[in-house]
Amino acid sequence: MLGILGGTFDPIHLGHLRLAEEVREALSLDRVHFVPAAVPPHRPQPALSAEVRLELVRAAVAENPQFVLDDRELRRQGASYTIDTLQDFHATHPDHHRVLILGMDAFNGLKQWHRWSELLEWAHIAVATRPGAPLADAAAQLLDDHALPLEQFRRQRGGGIIRIEITRLDISATAIRAALDAGRSVRYLVPECLLNPLNRHYSAPKKSQYKKPR
Ligand code: ATP
Repeated sequence: MLGILGGTFDPIHLGHLRLAEEVREALSLDRVHFVPAAVPPHRPQPALSAEVRLELVRAAVAENPQFVLDDRELRRQGASYTIDTLQDFHATHPDHHRVLILGMDAFNGLKQWHRWSELLEWAHIAVATRPGAPLADAAAQLLDDHALPLEQFRRQRGGGIIRIEITRLDISATAIRAALDAGRSVRYLVPECLLNPLNRHYSAPKKSQYKKPR
């Protein structure tokens, strides 16, 4: 089974990495693909350019052989829709079951996603606890309707939702951007290897579009 962790990663932080690690372990995933999202021009743009977000994710996952940087959403034209990403994973990794990994805040908003009701045709969903994001009523119903015990979750190709308790790390990219804006330290909130590149890029973010390296 492959884990798929999408996000803006503006920037990636230890909350994302623990989320991926604990879900990988709980579900015995073969690996977790980190998929930075393209942000369409009409939406508020991330503070960091696509190139820099990608570079930081690459550096953050480099030491872990079970973590993979996956730039497919940045290579695609237009908006990043998760349904397209799951279908693309099916095309590129047909032999692997897929698990979409979400923090609780993301899961609570799932019904606003493009073609959300089709997501479970293409993957399972693993929902992890996140501080400050209690399970919302509408999402609780969705979870109840699709909850599967672990054994069945592993056997079935998709369609299940599983809730996973992870270490509660109250870390967000929003708070990290605020700290960087204020000139405060973000040490121990992001991997050590990101401190220099983050400080370098954050003061003068480049907003150019991602282009596939040759
Ligand atoms: P921002 O503060 O800019 O909204 P973020 O920290 O929420 O960013 P995203 O890139 O939007 O990060 O998150 C990608 C995924 O990781 C989402 O599913 C989100 O719920 C999850 N996630 C992010 N931080 C945590 C955390 N500390 N604990 C659990 N899940 C998290």
